[in-house]
Amino acid sequence: MDNLRLWHKFLQTIKSEISPDNFKAYFLKTLLKSVEEDKITLTIPSAFILATLNRDYKKIIEETFSKLLDKPVIVEFTVKEFEETPENQAEDFFQPLAPKQPILNPKYTLENFVVGPSNNLAYAAAEAVVQNPGISYNPLFIYGGTGVGKTHLILGIGSALLAKRADLKIIYCSSDQFMNDYVEAIQNRKMADLRKKYRRADILLLDDIQFFSGREGTQEEFFHTFNELQSKNSQMVLTSDRSPRDIEKLEDRLKSRFVGGLMLDIQPPDFDTRVAILKAKCLERGEDLPEESIRLLASGLESNIRELEGRLIQILQMLKSKNLPPTPQNIQFYLSSQPHQTLRINPKQVLSVICDYFDLTAKDLTGPRRQKGLVLPRHIAMYLLSEEVDLTVERIGQILGGRDHTTVMHGRDKIRQLINTDQEIQRIFIEVKNRLFSTTYPQG
Ligand code: ADP
Ligand code: MG
Repeated sequence: MDNLRLWHKFLQTIKSEISPDNFKAYFLKTLLKSVEEDKITLTIPSAFILATLNRDYKKIIEETFSKLLDKPVIVEFTVKEFEETPENQAEDFFQPLAPKQPILNPKYTLENFVVGPSNNLAYAAAEAVVQNPGISYNPLFIYGGTGVGKTHLILGIGSALLAKRADLKIIYCSSDQFMNDYVEAIQNRKMADLRKKYRRADILLLDDIQFFSGREGTQEEFFHTFNELQSKNSQMVLTSDRSPRDIEKLEDRLKSRFVGGLMLDIQPPDFDTRVAILKAKCLERGEDLPEESIRLLASGLESNIRELEGRLIQILQMLKSKNLPPTPQNIQFYLSSQPHQTLRINPKQVLSVICDYFDLTAKDLTGPRRQKGLVLPRHIAMYLLSEEVDLTVERIGQILGGRDHTTVMHGRDKIRQLINTDQEIQRIFIEVKNRLFSTTYPQG
């Protein structure tokens, strides 16, 4: 067992035996320094943590290592306040295949990620990765249901690393894009380029790895990418909507590699976290809601933060359109008119709002014409169908009149980028989205 693996196993074991708060406080930022015959040395981030580990945890640490290594070992600690890692030389021959992903998305940063009991371990691990990329845990595997903040967190890692070390080659991509690059590389005989792109990354952030299910070629390619990156200590952060053990049609050798890293889950947010998130979202939108109104909104059962946010936008729009202030009474009125209805946006609503907004017919939108005025509406449709309705790119292609899934991916990514760089597009997008939520609001 190599050191990294040993350390991951150790963390998984300890994590199940002590409280999450203590795990976070004393172990997430600790590193395995060396393993000699029967002596293990850990690097501790502060003298304070050292004192606690010595006093309260030394025994359990030694026992755990002894069990894992199947022989008695002693454990020693050294303290090292973490420093920045030395600069790498920039390699300018690095040419990404696809346009650079918008990692620096101001919406998704670690600073505006609201931390609560449901996500604090994952968050602390993200911070540790930013502090010591490639050293703390590799891979870091984050899993949890839809809308609990996985993409936000992984992009936050990318953004923080980029801010700290502009020379790092950071790749963020959704697994469907990796899959797509792989297929394209095969078709165009560009495997060398593909490998150059992914295997030379310093940081690989791969979102939604459950999409690899059943894709044998992609899995094979990723297996080698993974090994190479791990052997160079290039940090990998992977996310999935379920634990790797539960991903069907995923090769065992990949499963065991994922499980061999540090796996942390994000749970649906509890009430207080929902309140804190809603407050943050109001602040972002420049809305000032009374505390009581926020608590009312948070008392819904939404476990999906995207839906929670959607509900907020929807109600604010609704009240605005009727010229009503967001008082608890008004909010209560709308909530109780449809108390248990969860917010589900369907593809039809998306298309109809877009046609309405841009004054197009459904035929214009889904038809073959490539006229300039049709491109933006189509791209926005691709983005919304992917982000808000959670459809696969293949399905979106079908809905939009049989377009290729790669076209859909390009469109979606384009909008994702423009929303952050182009104010006009941002304005249009917000208007479309607001309309979408207000029209889908169940009229009571
Ligand atoms: P996932 O990738 O798990 O499906 P996302 O990361 O896309 O979920 O999150 C959905 C929405 O909820 C995003 O708008 C994101 O900013 C927001 N969100 C999720 N978790 C948090 C959090 N802890 N703090 C602030 N916003 C969050
Ligand atoms: Mg996501």
